[in-house]
Amino acid sequence: MHDLIEGVARFRRDVYPAKAELFAHLATTHRPRTLFIGCSDARVVPELITQSEPGELFVVRTAGNLVPAHSPGPDGVAASIEYAVAVLGVSDIVVCGHSACGAMTALAERHDLSDAPAVAGWLRHADASLARTAGEEDPRRVDALVRENVRAQLANLATHPSVARALAAGSVTLRGWVYDIPGGGVEELDGFRPASPAA
Ligand code: ZN
Repeated sequence: MHDLIEGVARFRRDVYPAKAELFAHLATTHRPRTLFIGCSDARVVPELITQSEPGELFVVRTAGNLVPAHSPGPDGVAASIEYAVAVLGVSDIVVCGHSACGAMTALAERHDLSDAPAVAGWLRHADASLARTAGEEDPRRVDALVRENVRAQLANLATHPSVARALAAGSVTLRGWVYDIPGGGVEELDGFRPASPAA
């Protein structure tokens, strides 16, 4: 905790002054252009890897960057997605998976999660991705699952009414990324096309 308090002091002293004008502007303006959905993993820092300034990314982070498909009832992830798309009007949504994802590793390697029942339940949202990578050899399965999982979450995103409306209007673009922790690179996945509304 001491490190965090030191960090806050260093931010206030060394970083804030150079961006004081930006923060004054942001005090009354919240117009991010991108909804960034990433993993809660501490090694994947959206603002760092995209070199974004405060105010530019609306961020949702969940274990395994999972986005449950739309369902009725209160849901914090759904509320954040709807707010970003329908209220803030973001033009891009990124779902970002990453190398060595603990959630995807636990699934691919069938870890015993009986001591973490909430995690086990949450990871059920990756069941379809897991099924689609069943044929992969073990050493490659985590990588394959990370990619398949990003594609599956993009498809889940499109089931949210706010996203479906924005896709139909052509006002939002969905992107799938995989961030490589040791290399620092981002791979953009292709192969995801949301269902065309009228064609
Ligand atoms: Zn992860």
